[in-house]
Amino acid sequence: MGLIFGGKILKTISLIVPCHNEEQTINIFYDTTAKVFEQLNEQNVETYVPEYVFINDGSTDKTLSVLRDLQTAHPETVHYISFSRNFGKESAFAAGFNNANGDFVAVMDVDLQDPPELLLQMVPILESGEYECVGSVQTSRKQNPVRAFLSSSFYKLINKMSEVELRQNVRDYRLMTRKYVNAVLELPEYNRFTKGIFSWVGFKTKYLEYEGVERSAGTSSWSLFQLFEYSLEAIVDFSDVPLKIAAFIGGIICFFSIIALFFVVIRAAFFGGSVNGWASMVSILLFMSGVQLFCLGIVGKYIGKIYLETKHRPEYIVEEKR
Ligand code: UDP
Ligand code: MG
Repeated sequence: MGLIFGGKILKTISLIVPCHNEEQTINIFYDTTAKVFEQLNEQNVETYVPEYVFINDGSTDKTLSVLRDLQTAHPETVHYISFSRNFGKESAFAAGFNNANGDFVAVMDVDLQDPPELLLQMVPILESGEYECVGSVQTSRKQNPVRAFLSSSFYKLINKMSEVELRQNVRDYRLMTRKYVNAVLELPEYNRFTKGIFSWVGFKTKYLEYEGVERSAGTSSWSLFQLFEYSLEAIVDFSDVPLKIAAFIGGIICFFSIIALFFVVIRAAFFGGSVNGWASMVSILLFMSGVQLFCLGIVGKYIGKIYLETKHRPEYIVEEKR
């Protein structure tokens, strides 16, 4: 646990913050969270010190130089890890977990869409000792309706299909105890779907709801296609249901084709005559090749995952770290 300092218990809270092209938001984030820590220390008996772990995920703007300046200004509390290229938010989280030393660890976005003020409620909940993790659920974010619909379908789908349970609109934003973080560190997979990992490790988690807000500045780095890919990865990482669906489709088609075959044989044997209708034949053939390719694609997706896991590649490459 924390150190005793001047009669007060001193605890470190690590903030893991992935940054991809965030030159405009980093300083706003720092100022806001610094104020939150002041408030936190007024409201509690313990003294909390922040440990910022920024991850520069292959930004192409001035993010790295903003981080360098911030680190020079606050060498005690600010640290950053700069990747050699864009490895994705999931790898950034992995780097953050590997480098966070705090008694409590939070992961949050730099654009203030994960309100730092929520830490004021999260910390006492963990201090009470009843929970190992406090997560966050966004209630109403003014999203474009297509995105909102796709995202709600994604949660329904993944909860039906996978072994992990995800709350609708759950954010990555959460505060965790050391015990919880150590459990997360035990999952060495290369393909990381962090929300799934959080759910998979278990422990008692309390969810706080908050109303969604717009980004403080800059633009979102996710395209709709990336979100689709993210969902697909999430399902394949935590479920083998797509393989079962492929087997099921195969079974159903076999069943009906046996009935059809039976029908054709009986007709030829008792009523004779040639069977015409090449058009229907061609459509059936095309349909069947489609089904086969689809199922092959599903199997391929899993083989691809196995291939990547067996290579034991690092999840990210660090170019600069301070
Ligand atoms: N991010 C990242 N790598 C990426 C994309 C995003 O580290 O390839 C970071 C980004 O800087 C931000 C967080 O992940 O801190 C969430 O991204 P964003 O705000 O663009 O997503 P949204 O809030 O729209 O889901
Ligand atoms: Mg955001």
